[in-house]
Amino acid sequence: MHIAIIGSGPSGLYVADSLSRKHAEAQIDIFDRLATPYGLVRGGVAPDHQGTKNIVRQYERTLKKANISFMGNVCIGKDLSYEELKSHYDVVVLTIGAFIDRQLGIKGEELAGVYGSGEIVGWYNGHPDYRDLAPQLGGKIAIVGQGNVALDLARLLAKTSEELASSDMCAHAITALANTSVSDIYIIGRRGATEASFTSVELDELGKLANCVPLVDAAQLVDSATISTDLPAAEQQAKQKNLALLQSFAENKAADKPIRLHLVFCASPDAVLGESAVTGLRLERTRVEAGRAVATGEFFELDVDTVLTAIGYRSESIKGVPFDQQRGIIANDTGRVETGVYTAGWCKRGPQGVIPANRADSLAVAKLILEDLETSPPTGGKTGRKAIEALLAERAVTIVQFTDWEKINAAEIAQGQAVGKPREKIVDIASILNVVNQNSTAEV
Ligand code: NAP
Repeated sequence: MHIAIIGSGPSGLYVADSLSRKHAEAQIDIFDRLATPYGLVRGGVAPDHQGTKNIVRQYERTLKKANISFMGNVCIGKDLSYEELKSHYDVVVLTIGAFIDRQLGIKGEELAGVYGSGEIVGWYNGHPDYRDLAPQLGGKIAIVGQGNVALDLARLLAKTSEELASSDMCAHAITALANTSVSDIYIIGRRGATEASFTSVELDELGKLANCVPLVDAAQLVDSATISTDLPAAEQQAKQKNLALLQSFAENKAADKPIRLHLVFCASPDAVLGESAVTGLRLERTRVEAGRAVATGEFFELDVDTVLTAIGYRSESIKGVPFDQQRGIIANDTGRVETGVYTAGWCKRGPQGVIPANRADSLAVAKLILEDLETSPPTGGKTGRKAIEALLAERAVTIVQFTDWEKINAAEIAQGQAVGKPREKIVDIASILNVVNQNSTAEV
């Protein structure tokens, strides 16, 4: 049996691991358009959250299994078509994540100085698509959205070079941030303090920054007694923890540290202001009714130089793959896309949930695939990788295999250790292929 998994992030690797346990005879090929594996663990998880990244040790074991192959640097939809995959594999699983920034859909969003979180996170994490972004990040910065991605952005923009030194943020971003002078960061939510989706561990980190003080207007906070007791106990507790931290931030003074981080609630973006570049952000005050933001008709403006959106992502639509345009996900029924084709993770459900939630989702989809294989076993005749390798050779596509990645990994770790960092990522495909071909440390 031949199985293709598209995307080597957590979701794809959990599906692969689960299927390989039940079908040791199956050959599982894991494709990735990047030359490097691990998806958001490499390109999304904050570079100062090294503990979270330790999960790759588990993923390495999956990729080293005898019946699993990593096929990096192969883009489905460009190097290989979806139709070709279906004709050569018995099972195709799409785990391509969601990496396209959602749009606010407001006037001025196209101005210079507006960036999506995916672009900025990709830039500092060395994603090849965003390595050359060169964002304008000085002065006053508004971040729209109050999830953990917004907090990651604010924390990393506010950290000093010393605080970033033990992270694996790319050298180009550390240098750019060291030459940037940020004075104010606004993290803006369209709903209230108890509706924000960030979590207390991440909120707490904002209070421990060397150069940055988090500030909250106490009048925007509600009494913890107003948190609905109808909510599940864990959710009530999470909201109470957030509220307690926000109350402590309300006692901070603006003059305490050089960078001020303002948490602003009940404000919905109405327009980005400016002629060709951002000069401000107009917001409409909201009030929360039955958990929803309701417009009040009252507007105010923030004088800012940059606007970052951290409002979620859409998946990429690959030619031929059924796609739900409205939700920005692969059209599916609990993971089934069409006969022999499945999907898991953020491209199946939307951009929600941390790694354990995606693991649970992948295991559920793998169970579904195993059930389908039981009731309708493959009829045979597919050739899997053999045919695919021939097609890729014809198209002059260099496949980066797991042993190649091990060389890249060793080179990155060696370059990082030389400057006291966990790794210094190699961020362009030419340098990566140079390491693969020469087995030597490439220039970063
Ligand atoms: P998120 O938690 O869904 O937050 C998105 C934010 O954007 C919400 O505050 C949402 O407000 C707001 N928003 C959406 N559309 C908007 C609009 N049109 N105007 C104004 N605000 C808008 O998503 P995320 O921060 O991108 O995170 C994605 C997932 O990754 C989450 O599960 C998150 O926990 C996880 N993650 C975890 C970590 C960590 O554990 N350290 C780090 C990063 C990400 P409403 O709530 O009002 O819709």
